[in-house]
Amino acid sequence: MLFDSHCHFDFPALQQAASQYLQDAKAHGVAAMLVPSVSREQWPQVMHCQTHLRDSSTNKPLDFYYALGLHPCFLEQHQDAADLAALDAALSIRSKHCVAVGECGLDWRLADQPIAEQSIKARQIQLLQGQLDLAKRHQLPVILHAVHCHAELLAQLKLAKLPQAGVIHGFTGSYEQAMAYIKLGFYIGVGGAITYPRALKTRRTVARLPLTSLLLETDAPDMPLHGFQGQVNTPAQIARVFLELCALRHESPEQISQTLWQNTLRCFQIEMH
Ligand SMILES: [Zn+2]
Repeated sequence: MLFDSHCHFDFPALQQAASQYLQDAKAHGVAAMLVPSVSREQWPQVMHCQTHLRDSSTNKPLDFYYALGLHPCFLEQHQDAADLAALDAALSIRSKHCVAVGECGLDWRLADQPIAEQSIKARQIQLLQGQLDLAKRHQLPVILHAVHCHAELLAQLKLAKLPQAGVIHGFTGSYEQAMAYIKLGFYIGVGGAITYPRALKTRRTVARLPLTSLLLETDAPDMPLHGFQGQVNTPAQIARVFLELCALRHESPEQISQTLWQNTLRCFQIEMH
């Protein structure tokens, strides 16, 4: 049983053949999925994914969860103050399937132009702080997007002192960086990056981290695996990410799959039989 802890199932690339992708996912051992959101506009679609998952299941349906948030790469779609207020309201009346705030975080790849830099970074930090506050108020974990920003993000998380922590999704970075998040109670999201032979640092890191701090994810339809570049990534690919993780670790595949499943439930406070 695998849990895809980060799949953008609401994106058009997956929605155009949703039933097929779900069937494939189930055939590859995916038993549960968490769909984070990127903008307020997407929230209804993310919540709506649930219907798809139910309708297309002939036998056992996939367990479905979602998160509401404002992604740092979609700044042009956000009205920061209004959207944060709307997020607060939406979280107040959330269903039990809404298990996190996210996807939020920092991405400083695009903040390189000297003039734009300050405003992009400042806006991203403000949006992040707003969402960390809401996570605290609503007692939810956060799903964090972290690109070229580990020092700043760690500083923000230390200040925020979240009771439920969350996950650093699609982690790439060093062992020391990962351990700094783990010390704050965060999980590390392991995705397609580890299938790239040249991603040596991340592969070595994931091999050494405590198994009890790892989650599996695809980030589909983005982040295609090695050998699948240029194609739509799908939740079924989690099986390959899992195999790659098994190759990097010394524990048995059974132990890895069971531990990661339990980690995901613990991270998102999901109660399941
Ligand atoms: Zn994502």
